Amino acid sequence: MGRLTVSSKGLAWHQKGHPWIFRDDLETVQDADSGAIVVLETKNGRFLAQGFYSDRSKIAFRLVSRSPEKIDARFWKSRIQEARRYRERVVAGTSAYRLIYGESDGIPSLIVDRYGDHWVVQTLSQGAEKIMETIAALLRELFQPLSILLRNDLSVRSLEGLPQEKKVLHGEPPALVEVFEGDIRYRVDLWSGQKTGAYLDQRENRLRAGRLLQGKVLDAFCYQGLFALHAAREASQVVAVDSSQDAVNRARENASLNSLDRIQFIRENVFNFLKAQTEAGERYDGVILDPPAFAKSRSDVAAAARGYGELNLRALRLLNPGGILVTASCSYNILEHDFLDIIRKSARDSGSDLRLIGRYTQGADHPILISFPESYYLKCFFLQKVN
Ligand code: SAH
Repeated sequence: MGRLTVSSKGLAWHQKGHPWIFRDDLETVQDADSGAIVVLETKNGRFLAQGFYSDRSKIAFRLVSRSPEKIDARFWKSRIQEARRYRERVVAGTSAYRLIYGESDGIPSLIVDRYGDHWVVQTLSQGAEKIMETIAALLRELFQPLSILLRNDLSVRSLEGLPQEKKVLHGEPPALVEVFEGDIRYRVDLWSGQKTGAYLDQRENRLRAGRLLQGKVLDAFCYQGLFALHAAREASQVVAVDSSQDAVNRARENASLNSLDRIQFIRENVFNFLKAQTEAGERYDGVILDPPAFAKSRSDVAAAARGYGELNLRALRLLNPGGILVTASCSYNILEHDFLDIIRKSARDSGSDLRLIGRYTQGADHPILISFPESYYLKCFFLQKVN
């Protein structure tokens, strides 16, 4: 079995609980194969933990267990069962949710999403890649899925020296799968939709927004229209905008699937759309802003902050007094208090003040591991314009 020894700095970091060790914080690497389970030790040879080794990534070690137990199919089975029991407690009213969220479920860099009887898997490190067949066999044993699709078309895999690919692991994944979320139904494109087909992380916020929004509502960055569909149940009129034609087409189909004819879908750049709407004197009672991550890395933070600021300012100009802004950032690198600062400045620039109705994050099926700040990425504020 491969062995890694940590530097004093790496040891302090590990003892604080973070599940990763960076290559710079390793002193020696012995017999460690790419993706293998290795032992992490102190310089004196004291056992610390076991985890996945990567021979390419800056993240050389990903924690799997703090004890010297055997890491085999039985071990992975118990991790999956634990993840399942947790979801049974925190997920309700949907047939689509995340079963495994990497480190937060003790299976680093593995993503498993469920869409009814169809499943999608992503392996984002050499270690997760190596156990993929075992995981697929366990999913079949524990859940009897109709199909399992591997959606490994992610650029982060190149950091691990892994190729981009899509592969069927079981059954025949259909082109579209119909699922439900609260009172609405939608069809997911497992093969080429964004993420694994849907933004499951916003589910709880979509349900909240659906209960709260009234009047004329704008869903900006609507993707397949899910915020719009939930909002359309109470709102008198909904406008939904996305720059992707595929997304708008899918969103229209989802609206007709739910017999919701109060939604107008527009393919446009949201920044331009907001500006044009202000110039045209349009006003809304609710605006949802759910943009893609503007800060993919730390070096993007300043530009991203300007982007979020501009976006929120434009949205606030369109909002009637008493109107509701639902504004999200899925950039890990923009922390919650930074995001609130950005919104505060946009509010000031728009000449209005905001009441914070609630601050939320990704759904509980994407649990935040508090020793692993990287697992906390989604911020979603619900605000009311007070003047
Ligand atoms: N709210 C959606 C998820 C949105 S993901 C949901 O709950 O499912 C972000 C979306 O923004 C993507 O669909 C992407 O196509 C779109 N997008 C990215 N940049 C854009 C821009 N400048 N203008 C409009 N849409 C954009």
